[in-house]
Amino acid sequence: MDAQNFPVTRTDAEWRERLSEEQYYIMRQHGTERPGSCALLHEKRPGTFSCAGCDTPLFAATLKFESGTGWPSFNDPIPGSVETTTDRSHGMVRTEVHCATCGSHLGHVFPDGPPPTGLRYCINGVALNFTPEA
Ligand SMILES: [Zn+2]
Repeated sequence: MDAQNFPVTRTDAEWRERLSEEQYYIMRQHGTERPGSCALLHEKRPGTFSCAGCDTPLFAATLKFESGTGWPSFNDPIPGSVETTTDRSHGMVRTEVHCATCGSHLGHVFPDGPPPTGLRYCINGVALNFTPEA
């Protein structure tokens, strides 16, 4: 994904300045947060989850659901806000999810979610900022 051109690009130093150490590890180095470690997991208010790397709205709170995995899970992203790649790390084939605007890694998508789409976007909470509905 590093070779791709995203609408928002930052130098490594800029990323380090903008993101916390944990956010940098997850979003720029494809890390994964400890399950259950992020307060956003329990966020239930109406509102919007946006990318911590570029502030682009990514997920609506209405499509968030409790998956029991310990990571914030969504049925579907805001159309066009995320892109996917095939991730063959850790001896598994998974679908990686990243921000379409700045390319930051967000999490993975699995085909075991609830209807209507049957998808489960399993997202690292620290990669998101939540804005409650005004
Ligand atoms: Zn972004």
